[in-house]
Amino acid sequence: MAPKIKHRARIKLINQNGTVVGNRVDDSTYLDSYGAYLRIPVPKIIGKTVTYTVAVEYLGEHQYKQTLAQRTRAHERNQERTKKWKEEQAKQELENQEKQLIQRRNRIMNQIELAFVKNGKEAVNFVTCDKCDATATFLGLAFENPGSTVIDPDQITGAWCKEHDNKYARPFKTKAAIACELLEFFYDGLRQIYVSPSGVSPQ
Ligand SMILES: [Zn+2]
Repeated sequence: MAPKIKHRARIKLINQNGTVVGNRVDDSTYLDSYGAYLRIPVPKIIGKTVTYTVAVEYLGEHQYKQTLAQRTRAHERNQERTKKWKEEQAKQELENQEKQLIQRRNRIMNQIELAFVKNGKEAVNFVTCDKCDATATFLGLAFENPGSTVIDPDQITGAWCKEHDNKYARPFKTKAAIACELLEFFYDGLRQIYVSPSGVSPQ
């Protein structure tokens, strides 16, 4: 895509005595459709009108130091840089999201560790929301594993309370959710997060 052509116009403002009180050159891409632009001094006396003459002269296209071919190349390089910058931003954003996901998961796993230390069984009392200190009502999961009775820590994407339950803004990578009230912790050689659909924990 070629850079846009700029048009130029000279605008002169002449007062009642014939003195030029404003003189500027307007360079604009849309000069031909939007017109030129000029600021006019305002007399600070209420009720007094001052008459000016405005002279507008079209000066043709803006004279660039570089040829159109050079400008086109520079423009393309610029667009390429913008594209790379946007890609870099998107990559950064993705990395940030991944990092925050790991932080949330670590926080939740630490809370679960604490539940074990305190011999607590109900996840619902230990896991807090990603956004506040309230206890979480749901855990976000990166994938579902129907039939499985344990949650893999790597499945956890975040947690939210009733207040911060927004189905349009789930934590990054969330594909499913599980109610905290269905979760219990138990130890079978490994610390496990157990899904108890019936509300009955394993013996
Ligand atoms: Zn919350």
